[in-house]
Amino acid sequence: MSKINYKSVEEIELIRESSLLVSKTLGEIAKVIGPGITTIELNKLAETYIRDNGGVPAFLNYHGFPYSLCISLNDQVVHGFPGKHVLVEGDLVSVDCGVILNKYYGDSAFTFAIGEVSDTVKTLMRVTRECLDLGVEKAVVGMRIGDIGYAVQEHAEKHGFGVVKELVGHGVGLHLHEKPEVPNYGKRGSGIKLEEGMVIAIEPMINAGRAGVKFWDDGWTVSTSDKKPSAHYEHTVAVKKGKVDILSSFSYVDNVLKEKNNN
Ligand code: MG
Ligand code: MG
Repeated sequence: MSKINYKSVEEIELIRESSLLVSKTLGEIAKVIGPGITTIELNKLAETYIRDNGGVPAFLNYHGFPYSLCISLNDQVVHGFPGKHVLVEGDLVSVDCGVILNKYYGDSAFTFAIGEVSDTVKTLMRVTRECLDLGVEKAVVGMRIGDIGYAVQEHAEKHGFGVVKELVGHGVGLHLHEKPEVPNYGKRGSGIKLEEGMVIAIEPMINAGRAGVKFWDDGWTVSTSDKKPSAHYEHTVAVKKGKVDILSSFSYVDNVLKEKNNN
């Protein structure tokens, strides 16, 4: 994909539907994630839920990726494989989900704490989610791609965290990964102009320690080079005049987690 595909209002509504199915799938994950469940069980649940709702898991077979979810544990940054690992108290679990519905893609990710996690991990999660919010706010007409990256990087580094640079956000539409690239670092006022009709996934990957990452021999998994934990939150958004239109939503996950905490 060499050029930006600008979306019509109708196409943006279709991407919203796909993104909401992703968000609801993450909400289903939120209901069951906890000590004692394996990550392959989460993968199975997501695949079933997506298909039951008329979608296709977007990651399954994408360039040969063998699962419906990317599940990245603790020091894994992104693209981890679900498997036999039984989640235990203190684990940090990044779940990335994509669907195809009516030919259009949606993409969103959320990082879950299993039971009580360390104060560092709590801060990492909070700051990474704030990085996402700050980046998303910049996705309005008149800003540039570098303004998003600057907002993310400035907030993460202010807290002493490392910003992953090898992997970036992206355009979303009829393809999972379209132009433009959306780095989590950058200079204010640099890069291409954001314009109406652009739909992008903004996805800060923030490390508790250094920014460096390691690519595994499995061809997919990315982990931190210093073995410290990493967090990842992602929204698919449409660039608008004045105020961004966030097409995915964390409300499903947040409501489930709130309910769980009250019990
Ligand atoms: Mg994703
Ligand atoms: Mg993405």
